[in-house]
Amino acid sequence: MTLVVQKYGGSSLSNAYRIKHVAQRVVDVWKSGKQVVVVVSAMGDTTDNLIDLATEVSVEPEPRELDLLLSSGELVSCALLTMAIRSLGLDAVSLTGLQAGIHTDTSYGRARISRVDSARVSREISENKIVVVAGFQGVNQYFDVTTLGRGGSDTSAVALAVALNAERCEVYTDVEGIYTADPKIVKSAKKIDNITFEEMLELAAYGAKMHPRSIELAATNNMPIYVASSFNETPGTLIYGDITMMEHSVKVTGVAYDRNVAKITLRGVPDHPGIAANLFEPLASLGISVDTIVQNASIDGFADLSFTVIGSQLDEVVTQIESLKSDVGNVEIVTDRNLAKISIVGAGMLDSPGYASRMFRALADASINIEMITTSEIRITCIISEDSVSKAVNVLHQAFELEIP
Ligand code: ASP
Ligand code: MG
Repeated sequence: MTLVVQKYGGSSLSNAYRIKHVAQRVVDVWKSGKQVVVVVSAMGDTTDNLIDLATEVSVEPEPRELDLLLSSGELVSCALLTMAIRSLGLDAVSLTGLQAGIHTDTSYGRARISRVDSARVSREISENKIVVVAGFQGVNQYFDVTTLGRGGSDTSAVALAVALNAERCEVYTDVEGIYTADPKIVKSAKKIDNITFEEMLELAAYGAKMHPRSIELAATNNMPIYVASSFNETPGTLIYGDITMMEHSVKVTGVAYDRNVAKITLRGVPDHPGIAANLFEPLASLGISVDTIVQNASIDGFADLSFTVIGSQLDEVVTQIESLKSDVGNVEIVTDRNLAKISIVGAGMLDSPGYASRMFRALADASINIEMITTSEIRITCIISEDSVSKAVNVLHQAFELEIP
């Protein structure tokens, strides 16, 4: 019998009515002859509300206690959905992360799954039960509860799908799939029917709503993910396959953006070996990920070095560089916090020249200045000013003919 893992997000489970609706959907799949394992996220805004509560009782809640608290949100939806399925006359059982065998490392708040011991889930399935698992949570080696990071129940679902050798992992949410651009910005954005893991990773990293780790896990294990709405039956987006496996008629798959970008320019950096290492090692050990890095040619032994960081980390980075002046020289620090990233993503760009110049032309024609540029195999990213994001997304969407025909 085929097995599917279905994950339902918070908006799909926001109240009793919606939970009963999901229960009916699950029962329908079961009646169509498939085995079903359901992974749930917490109801509506539960996780946010729990975080608020924690900060009301403690300035700095202990990570271990915070994880136990946050994991309770998924327990509520897990038990309620199971009751709702059972009241439709089918046999169902709820399982916590521990009971479902989700083992993680010890990093509270952003734990990584180390192994899934699926024996219990398999046994329940073999007894013809629908299994409902609390997403977002696991246990570490001390059997303390951990959580996987915000949005992490996507990753729980994929991990279970892989462990159970499911046909595919289905992720149900309040939007109908993955779009060529943010539909809130581009009115003519259209839903993508199929997208490769690599493309989805680039889009996820640039603002689309799935947990990037779930895509990585699915890609590594070649587990297809189907993303669709739980509010209607409109077909969604299937994420699968390898960019090197297919010929691409569609060259650019989507346009992504990220508004939370800041740039730091260091003027008068001494041009000799070791300076970049002295600068970036301390930033890395603070957990700051540095993105686009540009160093210009040196004049009289000094160069300028620019790089981008997540906007909210800018102040921390500046403080750190101030403290590093004895190692990197008395550099002048110039910052710009009102920047954004705009990217075109598409497997078809692999080995096909000309995309970058088309992108630059489209931005130029819209009088949008490009501050920095970076690329990957299947992505071209420009750093632009934050207030031109909407315009940029729209002109690129048009330039690469992603509109609904
Ligand atoms: N409930 C958790 C969150 O809001 C996990 C999830 O939704 O996937 O981040
Ligand atoms: Mg959520």
